[in-house]
Amino acid sequence: MFKKVLIANRGEIALRVQRTCKELGIATVCVYSEADRNSKYVKLADEAICIGPAEADQSYLNPVAVIAAAEVSEAEAIHPGYGFLSENADFAEKVEASGFVFIGPRPETIRVMGDKVEAKAKAKEVGLTMVPSFNIDREAKFEETAKAAAKLGYPMMVKAAAGGGGRGMRIIHTESMLRNSIGLLAQECERAFGDGTLYAEKLLSDARHVEVQILADAAGNVIHLGTRDCSVQRRHQKLIEEAPATNIPAKKLARIGEQSVEACRKVGYLGAGTIEYLYDGSSFYFIEMNTRIQVEHPVTEMVTGVDIVEQQLRIAAGEELAIRQRDVAFEGHALECRINAEDPVSFLPSPGTVTAYHPAGGYGVRVDSHAFVNCEIPHHYDSLVGKVIVHGATRPEAIRRMQRALGECVFTGIKTNIALHQRILENSSFRRESVGIDFMDSMK
Ligand code: ADP
Repeated sequence: MFKKVLIANRGEIALRVQRTCKELGIATVCVYSEADRNSKYVKLADEAICIGPAEADQSYLNPVAVIAAAEVSEAEAIHPGYGFLSENADFAEKVEASGFVFIGPRPETIRVMGDKVEAKAKAKEVGLTMVPSFNIDREAKFEETAKAAAKLGYPMMVKAAAGGGGRGMRIIHTESMLRNSIGLLAQECERAFGDGTLYAEKLLSDARHVEVQILADAAGNVIHLGTRDCSVQRRHQKLIEEAPATNIPAKKLARIGEQSVEACRKVGYLGAGTIEYLYDGSSFYFIEMNTRIQVEHPVTEMVTGVDIVEQQLRIAAGEELAIRQRDVAFEGHALECRINAEDPVSFLPSPGTVTAYHPAGGYGVRVDSHAFVNCEIPHHYDSLVGKVIVHGATRPEAIRRMQRALGECVFTGIKTNIALHQRILENSSFRRESVGIDFMDSMK
């Protein structure tokens, strides 16, 4: 096992990774921007190195600064967390070329999966079912695109090959809308992601977002840790996640688990990863693969008892998976609410100083948060201030426990979306059964 690991991230995930490192006796080096100088994860790390100003492109997104910090601290491996450089294949390559272990898949896997057009082609090749789609060739005459669109049928979702985080996608209802949108969206994506490549996908209205957690080691052992349902979303960004996905026949669940494992085996996947699908009540359609730890990983940990960060570290250190598929058992139901520093009505970010903070506690409750009294929530980064995760014997019990836990949570000085979560938890459709990705639209 590694003696020292550098965590190239901030906030709750920097703390999350650090916690497992400590339990495994691994010394931790954290990097931070000037805006995060007084953060909890900085104070708790064995070593902390300032890598630049608040602006992410000059600190957390700067590969040179991160690798220099690894060199200075003599860390052996770099854990990228999620976001920032975690899905940057060039960074992973540089990390390895500099003599460190990148805690994640091989750079070429990240490269293929990071381009959604390439990822779809690969997923199709390894036997997964695709959402019907066509690639938009902007060099071709619009008539060609219109023809392909008519064949696919409206409404459709035009997406950026390089998109992520719910950005770079637009629902298109008509041919004239398609004509007017392509150029603008391509330009937007060129600016945001440095790549204006677009494709169109059939819009799967009110399908469910169901994903499969994968672990794969260097010896070729691949297992899955079951499913998560992340259908409660706002603007294509997840708000509440659950494990396991309910209301899906056991046979189908077993099949999608096996297919996901098989797909990862075929692409030579390494480490922890997630294959995301849209489920329309009968089939699972591949939408993308995330080649990193995900925000919602704790719900899987709660129902399987497997520490996914620990598995990432062990796999990166060259250990073989000690868990076989038959050892993976699922117990009860887990829910996670993402607590964002934002206005619960206008959704505008609400950065500032947390003046009082009381996390939830008690039986079956886990809070992953970097918050403390007087901590600063900077406006430079995303607004996640913590995650409340609960485990119950059943889904109704987990919902009741989450309502109780959120009722205990206090943040003052900043606004949070806790009230929005409470509204969702009270919603009869949400309580009765699994909801679709359009659920939040119908809640207004
Ligand atoms: P990102 O990489 O930005 O997270 P994804 O491809 O994972 O983008 O999609 C995010 C969300 O967007 C999905 O969970 C779903 O709600 C919605 N979405 C994506 N593709 C489709 C589609 N073809 N039809 C309907 N909704 C979709």
